Amino acid sequence: MFGLMQEHPLLVASIIQHAARHHGQTEIVSRLLDGATHRTTYAAMERRARRLARVLQGLGIRPHDRVATLAWNSFRHMELYYGISGMGAICHTVNPRLSPDDVAYILDHAGDALLFADTSFTALIEAAAAKLAGGLRAVVLLATPEQMPPLALPPGIAVLCYETLMEAADETFVWPHFDERTAANLCYTSGTTGRPKGVLYSHRSIMLHTMAENAAAVFGLRPGDRVMPVVPMFHVNGWGSAYAAPSMGAALVMPGRHLDGASVTRLMNEERVTVSAGVPTVWLGLLAHLRASGERLATVRRLIIGGSACPPALIEAFDREYGITVEHAWGMTETSPLGTFNTPIDLAGEDAAAALRRKARQGRAIFGLDMRIVDDEGRELPWDGVTSGNLQVRGHWVCSAYYGDAPGSALTGDGWFTCGDVATISPDGNMEITDRSKDVIKSGGEWISSILLENIAVAQPGVAEAAVIAAAHPKWDERPLLIVVPRAGTEIDPAALLAGYRGQVPNYWIPDAVVMLEELPHSATGKISKLDLRRRFRDYLLTRAADD
Ligand code: ADP
Repeated sequence: MFGLMQEHPLLVASIIQHAARHHGQTEIVSRLLDGATHRTTYAAMERRARRLARVLQGLGIRPHDRVATLAWNSFRHMELYYGISGMGAICHTVNPRLSPDDVAYILDHAGDALLFADTSFTALIEAAAAKLAGGLRAVVLLATPEQMPPLALPPGIAVLCYETLMEAADETFVWPHFDERTAANLCYTSGTTGRPKGVLYSHRSIMLHTMAENAAAVFGLRPGDRVMPVVPMFHVNGWGSAYAAPSMGAALVMPGRHLDGASVTRLMNEERVTVSAGVPTVWLGLLAHLRASGERLATVRRLIIGGSACPPALIEAFDREYGITVEHAWGMTETSPLGTFNTPIDLAGEDAAAALRRKARQGRAIFGLDMRIVDDEGRELPWDGVTSGNLQVRGHWVCSAYYGDAPGSALTGDGWFTCGDVATISPDGNMEITDRSKDVIKSGGEWISSILLENIAVAQPGVAEAAVIAAAHPKWDERPLLIVVPRAGTEIDPAALLAGYRGQVPNYWIPDAVVMLEELPHSATGKISKLDLRRRFRDYLLTRAADD
């Protein structure tokens, strides 16, 4: 016997319809490319998203067509999220930090018919368009007619103005109903391990992820919150903020392109931001700015951090110096992205050091997703907080195959997705990533966690950023090499830095040498690019040994 409850397909457009109807006056504030501040409301945005659906129809877009975006976080990017997916087409967010070659590759691979782009990307678009195999019909620049920059494209690709098209469209579009399993968004992994691969989210997966993200134990957004997604909307749907905030009636503050500490501080204070989400590099930059300038964040209560491991020193510093809670999350493009969340709790009788270690772990699986660790033969490993293994997940918003591949082809025979991360899980279910599989350092047959060594380095005074990579070694195969960026105006003594590891890790974990750099290379998603560092410093110890 079936239940007798209503059934409505889980469709993304229902989020903006809800926000427009029940939180219509709640704001979306955007810092635009020219530095101006733009304000709109959910009610107005929903009307503009319907207008956009008309524009898309006028440009020949049909359900299931792919429409690309190349844009910073702004109200226009929100309109694209809802207008494109809402009419049944697929919103393909392209990462502008990728090379023109990769951008051309993914536009072709996705078969995008249109590209909506911010005006700051004209050089990238010209370079990528020259390499395109075909299929792209037009580039629509997100601008008013007065703001249109010159853009030289190959014949067959038109250049159009977003606001001119919007002006000419009407608002009579009615959000359609269709199967909730229909594809809504497409996001490519940043290709740190080869060509980018497309992850194709469905309306259903996005809706379930949104509900899970809004649980009190996770983002827990609510009316009155003012949410600033520092993480770009082209990085795994901005970790879902553009869905989670309107669904709960929380305001959105879109930072645009300037994500340095000073710009972020100014906007957070001006717009009374309460919650924000971003990668560690951004929060390290913010912390450095606050310390140097003496400024404070007047309204921010929580910073959500993920994308790379959060150094415990960052959690401690924001808490002690600024009264702000840092909440650590783990996920990936293939998991929409939320997989685990370390909800802040206090445990009776726990000392401060143990509490900090616990808070720095990546957290428990959120409801709707399951995880396990397995050995190389696929046998499940114990949750003892010590045994490390390959992390696997399954759930409602975990990818089953990459775009263009056979259904289920990204899964193990028993239906799990292998994340490419090495992790431990404590008896109470708190997971800790010890490394990406390809970053693990194998020294004389023992595994050394690069993340743990980096966390210890950034806790040292004078260290702004640190990376530990596997350097080739004649005797041990690989040994850890510590690469650090000193804080502005500080001198670092390598011997003292290495001495700081004593007593914190087994002696054989202590890096063999320290390299100082003025800055570390970052990937297209703002993470330290260990691939680049390995290319440059893989033979550092061998060369040094030869020189000695
Ligand atoms: P890419 O880094 O290739 O752009 P993703 O953004 O999908 O792709 O990154 C997913 C990976 O980022 C995870 O598999 C994991 O290695 C790493 N990651 C994400 N969050 C965390 C975290 N909180 N701690 C450690 N690693 C993390």
